[in-house]
Amino acid sequence: MSIATVNQGSVYRFSAETTDGEGNMKALLGGKGAGLAVMAQLGVPVPPGFTIPTSACRHYLKHKRLPDELKKAINAAVAWLEEKQRQRFGGAEQPLLVSVRSGAAISMPGMMDTILNVGLSEANVEGLAAAGGGLRFALDSYRRLIQMFGAVVLQVPKAHFDEILVRVKREHGVEFDFELKEDALRTVIAGYKACVLHHAHRPFPEDAREQLLMATEAVFQSWTNTRAQHYRRMYNIPEEAGTAVTVQAMVFGNSGMDSGTGVGFTRNPITGDPAIFGEFLPNAQGEDIVAGIRTPLPLSELAKTTPAVDEQLRLITKRLEKHLHDVQDFEFTVQRGELFLLQTRTAKRSAISALRCAVDMAHEGLISRTEALQRLKPEQVNEILSPQLDLSDVDVAPVTRGLPASPGSAVGQIALTADRAVSMAGKHRETPVILVRQETVADDIHGMEASVGFLTAHGGATSHAAVVARGMGKCCITGAHAIVVNEQERTVKIGELLLREGDWLSLDGLSGRVFACKVPLRAGSLHNAMLHEFLGWAKCVSVTPIRANADTPEDAERARRAGATGIGLCRTEHMFFARERLEWIRAMILTEDPDQRREALNHLLPMQKSDFASLFRSMDGLPVTIRLIDPPLHEFLPRLEEVDERLRRACQRGLHVGEITALEQLRERTRDLQETNPMMGHRGCRLGITHPEIIAMQVRAILEAAIAVQRKGVRTVPEIMVPLVAGVGEIRAMRKLVVETAETVFAELRQSTPYKFGAMIELPRAAVCAGSIAKEVDFLSFGTNDLTQMTFGFSRDDARKYLDAYIEAGILKKDPFITIDREGVGALMQMAIERARESNPEIKIGVCGEHGGDPESIEFLETLDLDYVSCSPARIPAAQLALAHTAIAGAAHAATVVQMETRQETLVIAM
Ligand code: ADP
Ligand code: MG
Ligand code: MG
Repeated sequence: MSIATVNQGSVYRFSAETTDGEGNMKALLGGKGAGLAVMAQLGVPVPPGFTIPTSACRHYLKHKRLPDELKKAINAAVAWLEEKQRQRFGGAEQPLLVSVRSGAAISMPGMMDTILNVGLSEANVEGLAAAGGGLRFALDSYRRLIQMFGAVVLQVPKAHFDEILVRVKREHGVEFDFELKEDALRTVIAGYKACVLHHAHRPFPEDAREQLLMATEAVFQSWTNTRAQHYRRMYNIPEEAGTAVTVQAMVFGNSGMDSGTGVGFTRNPITGDPAIFGEFLPNAQGEDIVAGIRTPLPLSELAKTTPAVDEQLRLITKRLEKHLHDVQDFEFTVQRGELFLLQTRTAKRSAISALRCAVDMAHEGLISRTEALQRLKPEQVNEILSPQLDLSDVDVAPVTRGLPASPGSAVGQIALTADRAVSMAGKHRETPVILVRQETVADDIHGMEASVGFLTAHGGATSHAAVVARGMGKCCITGAHAIVVNEQERTVKIGELLLREGDWLSLDGLSGRVFACKVPLRAGSLHNAMLHEFLGWAKCVSVTPIRANADTPEDAERARRAGATGIGLCRTEHMFFARERLEWIRAMILTEDPDQRREALNHLLPMQKSDFASLFRSMDGLPVTIRLIDPPLHEFLPRLEEVDERLRRACQRGLHVGEITALEQLRERTRDLQETNPMMGHRGCRLGITHPEIIAMQVRAILEAAIAVQRKGVRTVPEIMVPLVAGVGEIRAMRKLVVETAETVFAELRQSTPYKFGAMIELPRAAVCAGSIAKEVDFLSFGTNDLTQMTFGFSRDDARKYLDAYIEAGILKKDPFITIDREGVGALMQMAIERARESNPEIKIGVCGEHGGDPESIEFLETLDLDYVSCSPARIPAAQLALAHTAIAGAAHAATVVQMETRQETLVIAM
């Protein structure tokens, strides 16, 4: 028979001799059909068969019937198969049995199940027995067909069949299906048939061709069932794609103890261990293995029972992996000692496995390093790096859920205030503590440092707690609205559940789940050396350097280890939050007397200086951008209610008059400094205009520190950055202040240092005026968090209340505080960059802010021709990979040559 005849109505055959399809025809043949075509072409033993393409499904769904040419083609293909197998479809002797398998291009749960043993009937069950398998086997196959066909095509609830089977097994006193003898199986078959008649109002079809066509139509029809539709919507699978149907000669794993069925992976999908991994069930067919009826054996047992089969399976699957360049998930059946492969597809795997497989396969020369990089999603890098809850051995349900604001996991005891967190944690942080708050404030920072994770009732993914957590690389769940924290009573209520300070809590920062118990933790950084190598490859291909947002010398060390090429943002005020400094900054704020203020600043100067010196030392040779003080001063003071409370208690206890006066003064200043809208208040460079002495102190600290470390051989060029600039007037005033201070310092020390001066672009007006601002500065850095806030007019910390509704209603696609809003904020950035570069071609432009660590935002940022992006140290690895992905995609788009000499040691992207 020629291909042409068979192919007229378009079906695609596969067999050792003839294969019409190709591996790359997934859209037409479905994943399963394409995989079988590949295997057949490679000479892998697969039972022969043919695939009815997805185009037939589309036709069927439109016209509600199979076209005549297709029916003809199916008949022709069946005839071809009969000849090949020397069997007859529906024949009384040597009957040909087939499976009818569904398979779309993307595998999809909810589609119709596969039906095995099609072609069997009352008329040929004896014939099948006589052909070699014996009567018990033939009857077992027959009852399986009636059950599958009944459930899948005739839609009889499967439970009815199960009831019958259970009843007969009980009557015959056996435990397992395969122990049923012939007479018992006959009883089952009779019961099944009656069941079909009763529930489907028609007898079970005994005609082989009718079975085949009905099954095919049912597969096509199942494309439109609700579950499948739902799945397609969720994963953006096109509605019109349709499914293919593969009809394949049966092989029988249920024909004795030298037979069986198995599934496996070419490498371990959980750990990535490069050894074949899977399970095998002797004397079983098809789905028995996943149905959990009997416990399957590990694949390694195969080597003991049937070493020849084991050897062959290893060779074949290795070859598949090599040919398909990826880890395979395969199905096989052994029929009386003979091996058949039934399916192969790309294996799903955990993040750690994905990493290990990608690196190993690159080493083995199976894939290029560029390809290896594409095998991991940036989020998976985060997953690998964070310790994870090990829920495999514990059976607990989450007590509530919040927003997964910072990845990782945390297991610790509940602390309800920052001070309690510090005392509970102990001097050496020997007790893990989770800080649980309605929301966190700047004053909580010491408690946050002492805790392993944070849980807050309010706030979104960019709230204080979330931003601090990501900066610290700690797990954080925000917006867990169900929790109510009662600081006085030291309790947390979650619905009916009452937890006390000191109770154990476990947080899953990847899913936002909260467990009210101590779940064991599993280390996340098992494959660090491997990750290191992998990220090294990423660094080679990406164009834009990554800097880190780092506020403390410890952060800087971490950033350097994570591969940062500098510090893009050091928020100096974070240095003030430490205890002894807070005291002096408060003194500075509280006094109106210039001398006292100077004295307070003089105390702060050496502290800042030593911080900057250690930053410069740890980033030796790399740029460090230091932002001058940004938040409004009241953030350094306690909350007004708190001061009131302290004052009330002080009066009750009859404290010393002096102390009461001090408290009263504190209350007055706190009230003075309160603002209705602090986010848009007296902060950033506005503070510099009204309190130049603070700026002068900071600039002095920066430059003195730089000169001091330079004397010891450290290479550094500090970059001084002014926050919240709206226009050129402010930047000129600040520049004058900085230049004057620098001149004084240089004169005093009789030494100078080069430094750079820059501005943050975080107000829409600054973006518009970037051209004139650029003339006054050496660099610009987009503060995309505030720029988003100010462009939308959304208050970041409160926006949660309506952002969810916006996203649900489709008004916004994504949370703009997580993924940059290209249309608005992005356009402002583009405009600013254009204007800035035009008026100052030398200017360096970067991005700092959480968006710099978000893979999707990075895709956009890469298009902006920036000099660097900066994100928190914990997010650098993922950002590095995202940048590499964008670079690789960009190289392909520009049709530049990506030299992927897979077996070469070096990776070159020719741009
Ligand atoms: P699924 O998509 O649910 O995995 P499959 O089409 O792969 O469905 O088939 C279900 C089970 O039946 C699998 O275990 C498969 O190996 C087995 N199977 C399918 N076709 C045949 C066949 N021709 N001979 C033997 N077993 C088969
Ligand atoms: Mg399968
Ligand atoms: Mg800002």
